[in-house]
Amino acid sequence: MTVEFCHAKLSALDHPLTALFVDCDSFFASVEQHLDPALRGRPVGVAPVMAESSCCIAASYEAKAYGVKTGTRISDARVLCPGITIVESKPKEYIAIHHRIVEAVEDCIHVEQVLSIDEMWAWLPFNLREPSTVAKIGRKIKDTVAKEVSPFIKVSIGAAPNKYLAKMASKMRKPDGLFLIESKDLPEVLYELKLRDLTGIARRTEARLHAAGIHTIEALCQAPKNLLHGVWGGVLGDRLWHLLRGDEIPELVSARKSIGHSHVLPPEHRHPDKAWPILCKLLHKACERLRSHGLLCGALTMQLSYLRGPAWAPEIRMPETDSTLRLMHLLDRLWRERPEPREKILQVGVVLTRLIAHESHTPELFQSFVAESMEQPKARLRHTMRRISPPRRRFLRCSTSSTRA
Ligand SMILES: [Mg+2]
Repeated sequence: MTVEFCHAKLSALDHPLTALFVDCDSFFASVEQHLDPALRGRPVGVAPVMAESSCCIAASYEAKAYGVKTGTRISDARVLCPGITIVESKPKEYIAIHHRIVEAVEDCIHVEQVLSIDEMWAWLPFNLREPSTVAKIGRKIKDTVAKEVSPFIKVSIGAAPNKYLAKMASKMRKPDGLFLIESKDLPEVLYELKLRDLTGIARRTEARLHAAGIHTIEALCQAPKNLLHGVWGGVLGDRLWHLLRGDEIPELVSARKSIGHSHVLPPEHRHPDKAWPILCKLLHKACERLRSHGLLCGALTMQLSYLRGPAWAPEIRMPETDSTLRLMHLLDRLWRERPEPREKILQVGVVLTRLIAHESHTPELFQSFVAESMEQPKARLRHTMRRISPPRRRFLRCSTSSTRA
């Protein structure tokens, strides 16, 4: 390597291994291969519904070798991999196996937190931080899962000085991996990754990093903290700077309590048919703000003040989301349930509450995994909608008020 690092080691402190991350490999597809011997060693795609327009929510490693991934349309998967077998997902089976895997890991080390249907992590106590000890625990977990659950379901295990890096480590030697990121190996050990491999770097963040002259993990690791702060537009950049150095930092809890917008309607917009599009725009705007802060919301309140009669402000709760489409669906539901559907409306508003930082989010088991997989086309749609939406200054300029914590 020709680049000189006068401060090649990212941290002066030698951080011990404190986090162990367990990630099942191609979980749904592996469960299918466990359940049906005929599928073992063969390319398998799992679909939420049996339709060519549907998409894979998992692919076996044999299918991945042909380029089939989570999110690949079934019709495309058949072109990429003509021998592929598509099976319909079996959520109950996946959840049952999930619980058995958690139990198996718990037999080896206490599970600190289950993060999704195929991910969990454990905090390593003081007496279990030697690399050889951690590797032994990792091998024990693999053996126990194979013995107690199924030899056809493999787990990849990573350990590092913090949970973030442990998750990265679990992904760096898939499938059936066991990889430790030790403090002494930082940052070089991360250089094999691409920017998008890091949790927290999606397409738009990657574009901002490129604009800041950062094209590789090496450049990212050497970038000063204030540069990352600028790229992320806040503390998320500072957090990543610390996490890449192996620092343990508390989970981000949002100080913001709510994001909302309301609008007093002029007389010509008080008919419900005219008020509804304005309410929708308010929700779109709130969702944009939600995402710009890196937050998810767990509750939506719709506020209606009638020209006559009492105001109505129902709340609906849901698994945390930042999806405009999902929230629009819920808003539509509340709107249809409103009392006095013909009454004129004086003011409309939306408030998003139960906010949580994206990285602190624990997805619901099967349901949200599927939702996330199905989210990819929706994310593209959102991006397109943003591009075609009118400039902000044309939008409810005069009397929109925002609700902040
Ligand atoms: Mg996995």
